[in-house]
Amino acid sequence: WAKAEGGGELRFFSERMNQNSAARLRLESELRRAVAEEAFTLYYQPKLDVTTHRFTSMEALIRWPQGDKMVSPADFIPLAEETNLIVPLGAWVLRRACMDTMTLGQQLGYVPGIAINLSARQFRQPGLLDAVRDAIEASAIPPEKVELEITESMVMDDVESAIETMRALRDLGVELAIDDFGTGYSSLSYLKRFPVNTLKLDRAFVGDLPHDAEDAAITESVIVLAKTLKLHVVAEGVETRDQLAFLSEQHCAYVQGFLLARPGPLEAMPDIFCSGFT
Ligand code: C2E
Ligand code: MG
Ligand code: MG
Ligand code: MG
Repeated sequence: WAKAEGGGELRFFSERMNQNSAARLRLESELRRAVAEEAFTLYYQPKLDVTTHRFTSMEALIRWPQGDKMVSPADFIPLAEETNLIVPLGAWVLRRACMDTMTLGQQLGYVPGIAINLSARQFRQPGLLDAVRDAIEASAIPPEKVELEITESMVMDDVESAIETMRALRDLGVELAIDDFGTGYSSLSYLKRFPVNTLKLDRAFVGDLPHDAEDAAITESVIVLAKTLKLHVVAEGVETRDQLAFLSEQHCAYVQGFLLARPGPLEAMPDIFCSGFT
């Protein structure tokens, strides 16, 4: 009878099938239990200050341990968003990341910066400010050490209310970064109005540096743009010495990527922060 339904109906039907599939339901209930049991862990990826060759901060990247495997966020963050489980999960990430950073700070003798990814739903829900405030208070982290990463698409849905949320977050003393910069569709006139501190150049522009002339031009432009707007700039996904050399020549202040350090558990951070990168 599917034939009689017509294309649109059929597509709708198969989407519903997909949404209600047994696999999805199983994943959802596993995710729900994992959130209740806080069965997640955070990996950290340090960020290098290109001029001093020192690591100054790190980004929290969530992992879901399953047996001896680590499930990556791409495989469960979208479902966490759809089911609203991202709200308790996101609050857990904020707390854990701030507390881990203070633990690391005690070992290092100074508190490094911590960048924490927010998801779209989390950014839009009214409890976000409380969750951020809670994480800061529970850990006693200096708020200016915390940088929240948002993406252009999260902001462009409703620019005015997003700017309000960003201002309220800045009023808590935390910093803001635009993640995956260059892949979204925010216009420069909006960028000027966003109370953000940092642009993170998406790794899509970094992978083929320095050979790809277009990527090189885009990278240079974003670095200059950031400087003009008095923003910090971070290049993501740096994997080779050539990429690092190019970015350094272009005066890109910060870099992150497998060349410098892969994401790893908190326990691996003291050694990495103490040795820097040469
Ligand atoms: P992102 O915030 O842009 O994070 C960078 C991703 O690139 C990470 O993947 C990281 O492991 C990977 N990466 C870092 N350096 C390199 C490199 O040199 N080469 C390559 N090929 N990849 C590199 P990961 O950890 O799988 O995270 C993927 C995305 O999931 C993140 O992208 C972020 O959007 C999201 N995410 C991660 N943790 C959280 C979280 O706690 N909450 C939320 N809402 N989203 C998260
Ligand atoms: Mg990020
Ligand atoms: Mg991202
Ligand atoms: Mg990114």
